[in-house]
Amino acid sequence: QPALVLVSTPIGNLGDMTPRAVAALRDADTILCEDTRVTGILLAVHGLSARLQPLHDHNEQDRIAPLIEAMRAGRRFALVSDAGAPLIADPGYRLVRAAIEAKLDISAIPGPNAAVMALALSGLPPHPFLFGGFLPPRSAARRSALQRLADAERAGLNATLIFYEAPHRLAASLADCAAVLGDRPAAVARELTKRFEEVRRGGLAELTANYRDVAPRGEITLVIGPAPDHVASDEDLDRALTEALDTMSIKDAAAE
Ligand code: SAM
Repeated sequence: QPALVLVSTPIGNLGDMTPRAVAALRDADTILCEDTRVTGILLAVHGLSARLQPLHDHNEQDRIAPLIEAMRAGRRFALVSDAGAPLIADPGYRLVRAAIEAKLDISAIPGPNAAVMALALSGLPPHPFLFGGFLPPRSAARRSALQRLADAERAGLNATLIFYEAPHRLAASLADCAAVLGDRPAAVARELTKRFEEVRRGGLAELTANYRDVAPRGEITLVIGPAPDHVASDEDLDRALTEALDTMSIKDAAAE
């Protein structure tokens, strides 16, 4: 039994709790969670009662030493976040690093994750992809973050981009993405796994116009296609072919 198990939980649909996830929570001595009320509800649905301890961005650093000590003493922990995969735009990374450094056994129970589900439904190239977490909330910082990505694209990055976004910021973020990255194919995945699940696909400019007047509700993941490929013109192709043929005939001549 690992000292620490990272347990993925549903992102909106309780039916997505896997049997292994339930068993891991049942078997843990202590469940580390972001909000004890949220995880308390999940446990109640599955008829579980367990010791809950909060672990969030504000206390994670201070909790690490006592938690590692308890793990060394044989206590088994499960880590969950409010929804989805722990660590992914959620707490847990520092604890995982510390457990690895302490040579403790860790494992994970895979399950729902909004970024991967949105990517799969987006209709955009699934790999390579770059998951950027949340973009900065203020426009100036957001544009700088996007500019760094655009610079990386100019240097050769060619990935589908995924971001988490708050509904009231979606239109402004889409507008910044269109301004900095150019109008390219994208998808807005909303309320995944829930009753009003929706994926809207379109160009960044079109999606910005869609959401500008009426801010969407619910939880949102934004997927943006890679920088459009440089499409070679006929002349470019002709030149490349001629050069290639020239090289070959030179080689052939040299061989004779
Ligand atoms: N750890 C989670 C995961 O694995 O997906 C993500 C946690 S992050 C704090 C929460 C953000 O994920 C939301 O603000 C939203 O951007 C995205 N998200 C979570 N659930 C979602 C859903 N059902 N549909 C679309 N996006 C979702």
